Amino acid sequence: MSSLFPALSDESSERVALRFGERSLTYGGLAAAAGALGERIRGADRVAVWATPALETAVAVVAALEAGVAAVPLNPKSGATELEHILSDSKPALVLTAPGDRPPSLVSDLRRVDVEVTGAGVCAPASPVPGEDPALVVYTSGTTGPPKGAVIPRRAIATTLDALADAWQWTGDDVLVHGLPLFHVHGLVLGILGPLRRGGSVRHLGRFSTEGVTRELGAGATMLFGVPTMYHRIAQALPEETELAQALGRARLLVSGSAALPVHDHERITAATGQRVIERYGMTETLMNTSVRADGEPRAGTVGVPLPGVELRLVEEDGTPVASYDGETVGEIQVRGPNLFTGYLNRPDATEAAFTADGWFRTGDMAVRESDGYVRIVGRKATDLIKSGGYKIGAGEIENALLEHPGVREAAVTGEPDADLGERIVAWVVPEDAESPPSATELADHVAARLAPHKRPRVVHYLGALPRNDMGKIMKRALNRD
Ligand code: ATP
Ligand code: MG
Repeated sequence: MSSLFPALSDESSERVALRFGERSLTYGGLAAAAGALGERIRGADRVAVWATPALETAVAVVAALEAGVAAVPLNPKSGATELEHILSDSKPALVLTAPGDRPPSLVSDLRRVDVEVTGAGVCAPASPVPGEDPALVVYTSGTTGPPKGAVIPRRAIATTLDALADAWQWTGDDVLVHGLPLFHVHGLVLGILGPLRRGGSVRHLGRFSTEGVTRELGAGATMLFGVPTMYHRIAQALPEETELAQALGRARLLVSGSAALPVHDHERITAATGQRVIERYGMTETLMNTSVRADGEPRAGTVGVPLPGVELRLVEEDGTPVASYDGETVGEIQVRGPNLFTGYLNRPDATEAAFTADGWFRTGDMAVRESDGYVRIVGRKATDLIKSGGYKIGAGEIENALLEHPGVREAAVTGEPDADLGERIVAWVVPEDAESPPSATELADHVAARLAPHKRPRVVHYLGALPRNDMGKIMKRALNRD
């Protein structure tokens, strides 16, 4: 397989590929920097990348990919236990860092190679690397258990990025505003490798801020990729419709993913700006599975249709595929296609458990599908599916209903054992005003009026904030269930 980034072949290109704050690199500069670094690491089996939100991280990953060396991005905010787990699991030959970085000794004890982003390197032409070779080992977010290292081949990256280009009409003219971390698929594969594969540009904010997004979209950027908490924060920070319209109204494409975008936030953004937010659904193991298409009908609360090349089905608890899609029958999402990873590093048990005999990947996510193919995720099998009084209830729709209450700022819903119902619905609510939160009865009635009486929360806990990981995902297993 040839280079993942055709635009790097033009070493004289003056087009800006990457900009992080004041520092930027043209395609020519990136080709030289990545080429020089590639020469220093060529032949290594796997290299770790100290993945700060900086130019060096992007150069390091591109260099590794061009040299055919697998990269393992490390989250600089990981605690010692997580870092220890990832390093002993992945055993990188060396770690790529920026010259000013001060990683903890666990990391700096590895052979360290500093990434230089300036200065001309001699760029050897990238030799073809087999598509099945591992390109990245990305650790899952650890939402449901300790992170697992997903081995992602080059073929999966190329496939997913090209399918997204089709779905989003994504071209080399697009300029992406980026405020996500660079150690997960969303920020790294979509946010960095995506624009580079198209020959477009990235403007990384270093750290997400509403001002940064507003500034870059005002200065000609065309796309924004965000997690739901970012859209929520933008909507909160700009309560005036005109301000929100000014901030987001000019973007060609607003994309959300990594977790469900609350319908309430989506509708507010659309009402103010006339823009819809395109939701896509993916995971570390599968890269991207579905998306609302740029040329498709917008529908809040759905993640759209399977991307080109992706086969998707819903499966009942007994393993039989859901026969016809009616928008109501809940099943587990299973996917198959060239976007899939090859397995979990050092975890043949987990890899085997994740696939059916005929090669479908069990996502662990539950969904319904409309007759026209649109997929609506109801939640994760492990934490979001509540079996109460003979019903299977998805936490997501109750969370959406709670968020529509003016007194609710954040909400999460879980199930807990109940002698009578099997499980009872528990709501974890961050009130707008901690002094006078809406009562449990009021919230239960609010949900019952919008959804159905059996979907009312039986217990309401009030919190100052929900436990979230660095992607803004709610860590339900950290919610105190007793
Ligand atoms: P772990 O597998 O370690 O428990 P994780 O599943 O959160 O963590 P990721 O691979 O980063 O790790 O996240 C993929 C998951 O994120 C999906 O399985 C799905 O549950 C959720 N997700 C991604 N996009 C969306 C979306 N648009 N709507 C709802 N959920 C989403
Ligand atoms: Mg997962």
